[in-house]
Amino acid sequence: MIKTENVCKDFGELKVLKNISLTVEPGEVLCIIGPSGAGKSTYLRSLNRLEKITEGAIYIEDKLLEKREKGAKINKITSKERADILLEVGMVFQRFNLFPHKTVLENVMIAPMNVKKISKAEAEETARDLLGKVGLSDKIDAYPSKLSGGQQQRVAIARALAMKPKIMLFDEPTSALDPELVGEVLNVMKKLAEDGMTMLVVTHEMGFAREVADRVVFMYQGQVEEIGKPEQIFTNPKSERTKQFLKKVL
Ligand code: ATP
Ligand code: MG
Repeated sequence: MIKTENVCKDFGELKVLKNISLTVEPGEVLCIIGPSGAGKSTYLRSLNRLEKITEGAIYIEDKLLEKREKGAKINKITSKERADILLEVGMVFQRFNLFPHKTVLENVMIAPMNVKKISKAEAEETARDLLGKVGLSDKIDAYPSKLSGGQQQRVAIARALAMKPKIMLFDEPTSALDPELVGEVLNVMKKLAEDGMTMLVVTHEMGFAREVADRVVFMYQGQVEEIGKPEQIFTNPKSERTKQFLKKVL
């Protein structure tokens, strides 16, 4: 579960997030859509502290990760406690950032071994299992540069899953891919959703949002402009801004 209360983020004078209060329930898939510059990535990055929020509170799995007022931290948390909370959160980016000098299998094994101190044998077993699930059993010994973008992104998903997170964040995981490779990545994400993963997905893939999301958020200028079930958002948006946006992208 993710919960944010009144999350604000300023970059100097620029107010990028304005009072974002959202909850992603356990097992829920929440898709965030919205125009470029709306703050979608900034919001996602705030959730695992790649960005520091200016104001508001973030809870992960009912634990308070961060609470700030006027930029100052007001919750007490040790770096160990924070790291433990963040272990519950996996993230997949637009760019895959695999380790180029490691094989596919090694890419998926490395974090559990280094961070969680899991034995090599166990890490390998998990990695093989996950690479099978994302359809890459035949590529385990390949180096990333020999893979297509879609294959690399599936490795990146397996790598995030290897840490056994409770929540997965996706920031436009298919937007750097050639169109014919988008489907294979979306299918892996769909399977993950069906297996009950809690997911927060920033996407331009309206078909995916419509089919897989439990709820869709339309973000506009740093605010939640509208939130609802995909059926409602896509067929009967309440906000004029949502309507205009969908008219452009659908
Ligand atoms: P896109 O769909 O293009 O990915 P987005 O909704 O993800 O857009 P963000 O990347 O979150 O948008 O950016 C929101 C706003 O914050 C933009 O105006 C951007 O220029 C600004 N911004 C993002 N990161 C920084 C930064 N490190 N310093 C200053 N401004 C930033
Ligand atoms: Mg973005």
